[in-house]
Amino acid sequence: MSNSAVLPIATVGEKILAQHAQAVTVFDVSIQSLADDMLTTMLAANGVGIAAPQVFSSAAMFIMASRPNPRYPDAPNMRPVVVINPRILETSTQMELAEEGCLSIPDQRVKIWRHAQIKVQYHDLNGNLISDILVGFVARIFQHEFDHIQGITLLERSNMPEQQRPDTVN
Ligand SMILES: [Zn+2]
Repeated sequence: MSNSAVLPIATVGEKILAQHAQAVTVFDVSIQSLADDMLTTMLAANGVGIAAPQVFSSAAMFIMASRPNPRYPDAPNMRPVVVINPRILETSTQMELAEEGCLSIPDQRVKIWRHAQIKVQYHDLNGNLISDILVGFVARIFQHEFDHIQGITLLERSNMPEQQRPDTVN
């Protein structure tokens, strides 16, 4: 039995989506409960990721949970991963262009360049430090959700200068 809830999702224009999230320093039951609610909210909305600011929380935390669904029929299957205090340590020079959606920007897709591979570090729900190397679609989810932690949505990202780079595919 779960007590988790579907939370309201912030849509573009909400202040919290433009703010830097705050580092999580206490790994207690309230963080576990927030993660449960975020997962339930994400699944209900057919998302493959969700960041805490999208549910009106300023915690530097997101969930990646790629799986095929009506919004992303070709997404790979992975167990949901709770990512807290994320850092991107290294990025591949190779970039990939693909369409992304966002639960905070309903009914819109934007083509975004992302690094094909990234080396990341984050805390899990127990406060353990995790290092990982992510590629392809999962690396794309991480970079999208990481942007939310910095107060950046697809709309700002698509206007950044590094997005104008047809020369980077190799
Ligand atoms: Zn998003």
